Amino acid sequence: IERDSIFRKKYGIHISGRDIPSPLRNFEELKSRYGCKSHLLHNLFELRIKEPTPIQRQAIPILLAERECFACAPTGSGKTLAFLFPMLMKIKPGSEGVKGVILCPTRELAAQTTRECKKLAKGKMFCIKVMTKELSRSGDFAKISCDILVSTPLRLAFAMQNRKLNLSRVEYLVLDESDKLFELGFVEQIDCVVKACSNPSIIRSLFSATLPDSVEELARTIMHDAVRVIVGRKNS
Ligand code: ADP
Ligand code: MG
Repeated sequence: IERDSIFRKKYGIHISGRDIPSPLRNFEELKSRYGCKSHLLHNLFELRIKEPTPIQRQAIPILLAERECFACAPTGSGKTLAFLFPMLMKIKPGSEGVKGVILCPTRELAAQTTRECKKLAKGKMFCIKVMTKELSRSGDFAKISCDILVSTPLRLAFAMQNRKLNLSRVEYLVLDESDKLFELGFVEQIDCVVKACSNPSIIRSLFSATLPDSVEELARTIMHDAVRVIVGRKNS
């Protein structure tokens, strides 16, 4: 525990909450500690991703321990991989229903996140989809197979209302750039998505570059035992 706190200090990782798992020393620990499949680690190797970034060192073990979290780290510090990798490790591809949902404030970010997810998942039979306009308007979600779905709040809420998209099997829900999501006034749609993700063992997480008190307060109303991880300063 003492070792962990020295290690966190070295990487500027600030935590709050109880029983926080040890940070990752390296990606190989994903295999020794969590039984990560070799080909997922191989994909990292192919992408020349060698060392975890500070946010990845702490957020990945938290999500793998099935804890909810608020993660705040500067832009460009690898937050996407921090929430995608645990999902790819835990979700069973091809099983029934959508298992992972990622909400993004813009369509561009949703498309980019989907591309990154496909690269990290390469070689595994994951079905990863971005919610396009067509899909939200005419997709038959009873027939479409989709393990991980990336969307803006508006398109997802639309598909839920009009296309009867079922989110009751979602295991991981991520609000990416959560500060922007709330700033842009998507509170109602987010609320609707959170309610539809009714699986009692769902793991919700927030990722952003800043964590304003207002966002944290709002988020605490839906997340009850969340851990907070901040790399650098809270509102930098
Ligand atoms: P953020 O969401 O924190 O702004 P991104 O997740 O978009 O940052 O990551 C920024 C870039 O860093 C991406 O091109 C990504 O592929 C790359 N990256 C992520 N993790 C690592 C890592 N551990 N080592 C090297 N590059 C990484
Ligand atoms: Mg990001």
